[in-house]
This record gives sequence, C-alpha cells and structure tokens, in this order.
Amino acid sequence: MEQQTIIEQAEAVMATTYKRFPVVLTRGEGCTVWDAQGRAYTDFIAGIAVCSLGHCHPAVTEAICRQAGTLCHVSNLYYTVPQVELARWLVDHSFADRVFFCNSGAEANEAAIKLARKYFFDRGQPERYHIVAMNQSFHGRTLGTLSATGQEKIRKGFAPVLERFDFVPFGDIEALRRTVSEDTCAVMLEPIQGEGGVNCPPPGYLAEVRALCDRVGALLIYDEIQTGMGRTGTLFAYMHEDIAPDIMTLAKALANGLPIGAMCAREAVAAAFTPGAHATTFGGTPLVTAAALATARTLVDGGVLENGRAMGDYFKTALEGLRSRHGVIVDVRGRGLLLGVELDREGAPVVNACLEKGFLVNCIQDKVLRLAPPLVVGREQIDALVACLDQVLP
Ligand SMILES: *Cc1c(COP(=O)(O)O)cnc(C)c1O
Repeated sequence: MEQQTIIEQAEAVMATTYKRFPVVLTRGEGCTVWDAQGRAYTDFIAGIAVCSLGHCHPAVTEAICRQAGTLCHVSNLYYTVPQVELARWLVDHSFADRVFFCNSGAEANEAAIKLARKYFFDRGQPERYHIVAMNQSFHGRTLGTLSATGQEKIRKGFAPVLERFDFVPFGDIEALRRTVSEDTCAVMLEPIQGEGGVNCPPPGYLAEVRALCDRVGALLIYDEIQTGMGRTGTLFAYMHEDIAPDIMTLAKALANGLPIGAMCAREAVAAAFTPGAHATTFGGTPLVTAAALATARTLVDGGVLENGRAMGDYFKTALEGLRSRHGVIVDVRGRGLLLGVELDREGAPVVNACLEKGFLVNCIQDKVLRLAPPLVVGREQIDALVACLDQVLP
C-alpha cells in the first residue's frame, strides 16, 4: 500500500491521541529504519529510549522466535522459566530483592504507588499515603500515575486525580525538606527527568533526598523507566552516585521493544505484596521475559553498555562544540545517551529539517531536542547527525 493511502486510512479510523509525522515505518535494522517508500532514516530516538540494542537485534529476535514456538503465555497461576531467570538477573544486577512484572511503565509505577501505600497500611499507618513528586516529572498516563505527574498540560481535563500528592522543584532539597513530613509515605522521582526536558539534579541531591527519607521513614521510589538499562551510561542511573532507592520501576528498554514493565523492591518493602494483593494477566509472560533476558545479557555481556557510555561522552562533546557555533543552543545536558539540547526557540522546525535529511530526532517541552539513539550507535552516525544539525540550526 502507498504511504499516503496508509496515512489517510489511519486518520479515518485511529483514535486521535497522537500527532504523527507523515511517515510510515515498515522495517528496522540496527540504528536504521525504513519507510514504506524505501527511504532510510538514522534513528536518534529509538522508540523513545526503548530499542537500545538497535532494531531487530539478532539475539532478541532469536529469543522471541524460539520462545514463540515453545510457550507464549500460561498466566501467573504457574511458574515459567524465563520469568524467573529475568527476575534473578535484575536482583543480581541491582539493589532489589524482588521483582513484580507488568506490561508498561505506567503499570510499574501504579504497582510502586500501591506497594508504598500497602507497606504503611501493614505497619498500622493506613492514613500515611502522602507522596511527594517533582515538578516537570512524568510517571505515566493512568489516573494513578497522572496524580504523580507534575505537568499541568498532561493532567488537564482529567481531574480529579488521587489525593495527597505534592510537588516540589526537582533538585531543590530545601523545598523537599519543607514538604516531606512524618505523614509522607514516599518520595517519587526520576534520577534524570526524561519527558520533562532531560533535567539532571545537582550533584549530591539524591544523597540528600535519601537521607531525608531515612530520617522521616519515608520510602524512596526511583522511576528508572527511561533512565534504566544502560541509557545514562551505567546499568541504572542510581549507580552514578550509588544512592539506591527502596523501589525502582523499569519498562521502556527492558525488552528492546516488547511491552514489559517491572517494579523492583527491597525485601522489607516487597513483603507488603502478599498473595492476592496485586496482579496482572499478562505480567511477565514467557515471551516478553525471554526477550528481556536476551536484551539484558546482550547489554551487559555483549559490550553494549560500554559502547553506550563511550558514545554518550563523544556525542555530548560534539553537541557542546555545536553549541559554541550556534547561539540558538542555550544548554546541552544529560548523561550517557540520554541527551538534551535546549534551544532559545521552538524545536519543531529543526526536527522536521532533520527528518527531511534522514534523521529521526525528538523535541520535548517545545524547545528541547532529545537525543536517545540505540546504545549500539557508532561515531559515524553521531558525526552525520551533528553535521546535519550544523546545517539546519540557525
Ligand atoms: C515512558 C515513561 C513512563 C510511562 O511508561 P508507559 O510504558 O508509556 O506507560 C513513566 N515514567 C517515565 C520516566 C517514562 O519515561
């Protein structure tokens, strides 16, 4: 079918929730995707920080095909091998002791919020459900996670949300001190804010948040849905300063494109999820967990994590060079391969110009170009994008 015909049909029958580029993507390999007309694009957004091993990585494709011919789903009434192996891998590679699997980032955060409430309920404090989250945060689109999302434009039209969520500026420890009390059940944050504009907290902030939570007995929840699985140069972003939370949520890159979420927690907290307390039909099916296991092993054992870290440094230096030549760039920030280039004006024209030249890049918060290519990206691809930006930036 012709690209234009597909677009017209989509406009006729699809929910109108997405504003899409006029491109139909049909195939991908590594850092390249092709449209229905056979045109190639170098992918610098990777399904929004999802396809970290690149598109159709052979190890993941092989795991999916093998598992699809073996066992796809049986429900969590039974044990399955890939699910247990993935949980073991996550526990071995993080602070966490136990893992709950679900199907998306929002669901992982829902599980985290429910677990935090249940933890205090079980301790005889059912009224302790106040949660402090951050301005500009993004935790998902369900009503529960919307309640924790500190962006008015995302909440607008869906009131009322859950009670007793407060918001403070990200990186401002004094504001957090003023808001957290003995009533607070959890502080919830992204170690680096993704959708909010690739915002990094000042050094030492996370350690102060951890100390504050410990002082009042509140739980610390890290949403690592975007920053996890090597995106920022370490396996999890909390590892940069070695300040671990009590609960961590994962999704996006966990299975390189198959839908999966995970809520990881310390033993004492995880114990509040007693049998029957929480569940989901598809959570951690053999198919998605086999894909995730292949993804995780390739990431760590296959040298992809190191490549991502090295390319992140290379890319950031190149972007800083660009900044010295283009006054429209007011900031270059981020870590690893989660990078933000803030402009003094709307970024949409730049994104469109890049698309014209065969590059997929993304713009968030109107003015911030977000660059999150697969972690297997090479120098030549980065050089090519930087040359493209050099041409299209005013
Ligand atoms: C994408 C994202 C979510 C939501 O994940 P979904 O799978 O879209 O529900 C939550 N938190 C962060 C930090 C994200 O980047």
